[in-house]
Amino acid sequence: MERVLASREFEAVIAGYGRTQTLAALRASLDDWRRDARAGRASVDALGDAALARTVDAALAKRAQSNVRSVFNLTGTVLHTNLGRALLPDEAVQAVAEVLTRQANVEFDLDTGARGDRDDLISGLICELTGAEGATVVEQHNAAAMLLTLSALASRKEVIVSRGELVEIGGAFRIPDIMSRAGAKLREVGTTNRTHLKDYEDAIGPKAALLMKVHCSNYAVTGFTKEVSLAELAPLAKARALPLAVDLGSGTLVDLVQWGLPREATVRETAAAGADLVTFSGDKLLGGPQAGLIVGRRDLVAKIKKHPLKRALRVGKLTLASLEAVLRLYRAPETLHERLTTLRFLTRPTDAMRIAAKRTRPALQRMAGDAYAVTAEPMFSQIGSGALPVDVLPSYGLAVRMASGKRPGGQLTASRGGCANCRGR
Ligand SMILES: *Cc1c(COP(=O)(O)O)cnc(C)c1O
Repeated sequence: MERVLASREFEAVIAGYGRTQTLAALRASLDDWRRDARAGRASVDALGDAALARTVDAALAKRAQSNVRSVFNLTGTVLHTNLGRALLPDEAVQAVAEVLTRQANVEFDLDTGARGDRDDLISGLICELTGAEGATVVEQHNAAAMLLTLSALASRKEVIVSRGELVEIGGAFRIPDIMSRAGAKLREVGTTNRTHLKDYEDAIGPKAALLMKVHCSNYAVTGFTKEVSLAELAPLAKARALPLAVDLGSGTLVDLVQWGLPREATVRETAAAGADLVTFSGDKLLGGPQAGLIVGRRDLVAKIKKHPLKRALRVGKLTLASLEAVLRLYRAPETLHERLTTLRFLTRPTDAMRIAAKRTRPALQRMAGDAYAVTAEPMFSQIGSGALPVDVLPSYGLAVRMASGKRPGGQLTASRGGCANCRGR
């Protein structure tokens, strides 16, 4: 080993990766060789200094590759949970770089010189954009925001939810599970397709702590259906002095119709329609970092902030910095579709996607080989991540078929998000 490591061939490898890693990789390569030799498959040529250096260099190069890698999103779904959802604008990237490399006033009040509350750095902006009285942010997810809300307001008490809204969002996220994790008792009312105001009314007993509505993000109930609207439910909640919480899921801050996109209730409208609390994600339609946002009545937000779980879920400085930068863009709605990356992808003109699809086509044709025919064609994209589940957006994509024309292959769409990713790469 000493002799091999001291050889001229290994100089560059050691210079690149250091002696410790190179030694370990060489040991592993020689172990592999011995195993092969015992199986009668090894060649002595592989033990030359140059051959060993090549093997070790290749092994180290593979190991040096990051496990978290950038990929092309050619799925046709703009906000894809498995691909990391929203892409953030430069403003957010700058803000994160700043707090990563410098100290910041995360919990320090620069006006009074006293200890500060990290929520204060951002809650004003959230209230301004949603019209809410109070706001708090938690690290990670809307799921965390719901867990905290339920723990703080309904532990050991009942939460009344329509059977039509007891959903699974994806992965292991199910409303009933979150409910039991939070120690709350689920009181189901109505049926899968129809729930009436009277169902809620009849269910309110002495143990009731909260009325809850869950936005149907990733499904639609159609046919013979009846849902109790927020406007109908709010007076009941008020009369019985029970808070009304809405899990809005995606939670857009602006009306998407102005850009020709399908309609989705905004956080402001939801609060105005009578929700005392609204929870939503930071990295869906909002276009920001992964986070859970809770907005609503000041007294309820204050109660939520006092719960011990809040400390465990407190928002980190990277999330704070990037979320603030993204929210600031919303102050200029006129330019939002150019500056907010998610919205730019969602509002991309079909022509731009056609050009992107045509430009990507030859590369995919080369990869696929002669057995396949790759063509650029009009098709549809979707927003994704539990936003507007039944709406599709006109798009352009790449279709892959067997060249014989007999068996149609799968379709790869160059999504609104996807081909913008190709730019400059
Ligand atoms: C997406 C979604 C959630 C979960 O949000 P995460 O940020 O993934 O935790 C919860 N409820 C609804 C209605 C959703 O659409």
